[in-house]
Amino acid sequence: MSLTVLNPATEEPLAELEQAGVEETDVAVARAKAAFPGWRAVAPADRARLLRRLATLVEEHGEELARIESQNVGKPIAGARAEVGMVAQVFQFYAGAVDKHHGETIPVAGGVDMTFREPMGVLGLIVPWNFPLNIASWKLGPALACANTVVLKPAELTPLSAVRLGELVLEAGIPEGVVNVVVGPGSVVGQRLVEHPEVAKIAFTGSTEVGRRVMQGAATTIKRVTLELGGKSANVVFADADLERAAAAAPYAVFDNAGQDCCARSRILVERIAYDRFTSLLVDATRGVRVGDPADEQTEMGPLISAAHREQVASFVDGEPLFRGETPPAPGFWFPCTVVEATNDDRVAREEVFGPVAAVIPFADEADAVRIANDTPYGLSGSIWTRDGARALRVARALDTGALSINSNSSVRVATPFGGFKQSGFGRELGMQALEAYSEVKNVFYSTD
Ligand code: NDP
Repeated sequence: MSLTVLNPATEEPLAELEQAGVEETDVAVARAKAAFPGWRAVAPADRARLLRRLATLVEEHGEELARIESQNVGKPIAGARAEVGMVAQVFQFYAGAVDKHHGETIPVAGGVDMTFREPMGVLGLIVPWNFPLNIASWKLGPALACANTVVLKPAELTPLSAVRLGELVLEAGIPEGVVNVVVGPGSVVGQRLVEHPEVAKIAFTGSTEVGRRVMQGAATTIKRVTLELGGKSANVVFADADLERAAAAAPYAVFDNAGQDCCARSRILVERIAYDRFTSLLVDATRGVRVGDPADEQTEMGPLISAAHREQVASFVDGEPLFRGETPPAPGFWFPCTVVEATNDDRVAREEVFGPVAAVIPFADEADAVRIANDTPYGLSGSIWTRDGARALRVARALDTGALSINSNSSVRVATPFGGFKQSGFGRELGMQALEAYSEVKNVFYSTD
C-alpha cells in the first residue's frame, strides 16, 4: 500500500511512499541484528568520528532538511532551521559522549569489581509528527553512541525528514543496517517493534494513550521502555514578576509549533491581584503573533497537522473566548491563536489540546498556585515568573514536573535532561542522563585470591 504525504499548509500531496508492514519490519529488525556485532566492535573514537561526520552532513544539508520539515509539518521555516541546527548539535554532543560514558571500579573484598556499560542490541525508536527530526535525533544520538543498532519509525504523517536522514547516515559512513528507517502505520510497524522478541528496547515519544499500550506490549518480552508522553504544563505568573516580559513571552510558549508541543505552557496561572493587567498584556501580545505561510521568513505560526486534528482542537473551544486571532483562508488546516478564561476543572485545562489554545486561570497565593499547577495527571515542563528568588526555587521544588524554567519558557537544551513526571512518562532524553537508558550496566568481579 502506498502512503500520500501532505503539506498541511496547502493540503497538496508532497510525496508518495511505500508503506511497510509486519514483514518489512521483521526484515529491518533482522538487518539491525546482523549489523550489531560489527557496530559494537567499532572503536569508540571511530564511532565518535562517524557521529561527528553525520552532524556535519546535517549542517551541510541544513536548508534542505529545514524545507522538508517546514513543508511536511507546516512549521515556519525559521523555526525549522533552528530545529535542524539542534539536530546537528545533538549528534556533536553524543559524538563527544562516546568515551565519557564509562563504568566504575568498586572497592570490595577479595578482588576487583568493575562495571561496564554494554549496548542493548536492536532498539525500536518510535517518534511523533510534531518535531520529527529533532525527536528522532534525541533517540538516535545516544542509541548510536552506546553502540546499539536501531529501527526508526517516523509518524506516518511526517516521514520525509527521517527518510532523508537515513540517507545521510549512510553517506556519513555509518555501516548499512545500523540505522533502518521504516515508514508504516503505528498500529502495524510500531506495534510489531513493541512485540518483536529481538528488539531490546523501545524509545517512544507520543501520546499518553499510545504510551500506555507500548508499556503493556513491552511487558511480554520484558522490553526496556522509555516514554516521552503528553503534557499540560503550567506557566505560573506571580504579581511581582516582570509582567510585560512574562506576557510578551507567554504566547510563544503556547502557540509555537501551533501548540503542537508536549511542553506547551497551555495553562497560564496568574496571581489574582495581577490578573486583569496580565490578561490585557497577554491579549495584546497574542494579537502580534504572525500566522501564515510557513515558507515566509516572518511567519511565527503555521497550520495544524491535519483536518482530523483541527476538529479535535476545535472541540476544546465552546462559547466566546477572551481572544481569537486571524488565520489565512483555506486551503490549509488553520486554527487561530485562542485565549480562553478557565478554571482548572474545565476540560480545556485538564486535557492536552495540542493546538493553539491557552487557558488563563487565576490563583490566590503561592500555595494555591502550587496546588493548581500540580492538579493534573501530567508533569512534563512549566515556568515560574517572579522577582522573588527564594519563592522561585521553593515553587520549582514543589512542582511535580520534569523540566522547569524560571523567568523563561524554554525547557529543551542538548546538554540537559528532558523528560516527565507522572503520566508524562519516564526516562530522560538529552544530556549525559540519556545514555543511562540506552545501555545496560554489567558488573564483573575479578577474584585476586
Ligand atoms: P501518537 O501517540 O499517536 O503517535 C506517536 C508515534 O507512535 C507515531 O509514530 C505513531 O505512528 C506511533 N504509534 C501509533 N500507534 C502505535 C502503536 N499501537 N504501537 C506503537 N506505535 C504506535 O502521538 P502523535 O504522533 O499524535 O503525537 C502527539 C502526541 O505526542 C501528543 O500527545 C504529545 O504530547 C506527545 N509528544 C510528547 C513529547 C514528549 O517529549 N513528551 C514530544 C512530542 C510529542 P503513526 O502516527 O504512524 O500511526
